[in-house]
Amino acid sequence: MTDTTQVDPIEIIRPEIASLPPYITGIKYDEVARLNPDIEILRLGSNENLYGPSPDAIAAIQEAVTEINLYPDNTNTILRQELSADLGFDGGRLLFSNGSEAILSTIIDLCVRPGDKVVTLQPSFPIVEILTKVAGGEIIRVPFDEDLTFSVDNFCDAVKKAPRLIYLCTPNNPTGTYFTADELTAIAQAAPSDSLFVVDEAYAEFGECYDDFPDNRAILEAAGKPYIVLRTFSKAYGLAAMRIGYGICYSADFAGRIASADTVFNVGLLAQKAALAAWRDQDHKDSCLAAIKSEKARTEKVLSDNGHQLFKSGGNFSCINYDAMEMAVDIQSRLRETGIFVKSSKGVANDGSLRVTTGQPEQNDRFLEVLSTLK
Ligand code: PMP
Repeated sequence: MTDTTQVDPIEIIRPEIASLPPYITGIKYDEVARLNPDIEILRLGSNENLYGPSPDAIAAIQEAVTEINLYPDNTNTILRQELSADLGFDGGRLLFSNGSEAILSTIIDLCVRPGDKVVTLQPSFPIVEILTKVAGGEIIRVPFDEDLTFSVDNFCDAVKKAPRLIYLCTPNNPTGTYFTADELTAIAQAAPSDSLFVVDEAYAEFGECYDDFPDNRAILEAAGKPYIVLRTFSKAYGLAAMRIGYGICYSADFAGRIASADTVFNVGLLAQKAALAAWRDQDHKDSCLAAIKSEKARTEKVLSDNGHQLFKSGGNFSCINYDAMEMAVDIQSRLRETGIFVKSSKGVANDGSLRVTTGQPEQNDRFLEVLSTLK
């Protein structure tokens, strides 16, 4: 097919979007598998739950599949009721969408005005930088230090600059590190009263396996701060392909106003059914969490015994810091030649890092074995 018009997209699209780098989508595992039929693909690059979803979720999808000619319940009534009852708050404070990333996008789109500041750790979830730029906002990055921690004082200085939004990813993607209760309390105290806290808890269920992972919502409630805490069914619940996440807002009024500007049917029927069944099967989720926690500890012990420098991760992944970005990229591509996918990103300062999802024991063994042969 040929283009029917020569109009430059820049004439049509807003100028702040014209300078965005090309969007890098997730790893195309199916395409790689098709092109390399002889290698066994190992997906350690997307932080999926490699132990799989609850069998009840699969059954719920199969049962509902005959109803896909009908629009779903656009308010997610049953899921809303069960989540809010189990977690103990008014269901009106919940937002749902097709993945927590979609809620993040809506929040930044609806709250960040041109020139507004958004504070985030560096490195952190890169989509926040893109969405902020699209909104015409300005990113303030708080970097990690050489010892793979960040300075809470620097973070507090940044939040004193009157940001519209304070993005805390905890456990953080890609480092896996999490904000402690003291750190979050200090940041909340330093923040202006009208800065919105966006606490991205995509990996929080894994974080909650550690005693010092705080109740972030309780801390922000106690501090009287406006917030939205983002959670997803993609990770601990193993439903990444279903696309469903939720946000818990500080007030039903805030949630209602955001929802009224969002698309109406933003969670499909099968996703709603799968999420409800997965939520009701907490035992399955808990057994995944336990297995991942112990496998991560085992893998990280081997890595650090072999001299690798690791961030302290509370996620379902480990993050190895390398002295140079080129080194991380080189190891990533050599692993890829053997079918093993991991994710490189910027580390501290000019360093690079490799983020490796914790898989099942034999998957982790394969990764460790190949990595040990790469120098
Ligand atoms: N937040 C973080 C920190 C993530 O790593 C991801 C997924 N990579 C998401 C949000 C998006 O999750 P979802 O599948 O719910 O859109």
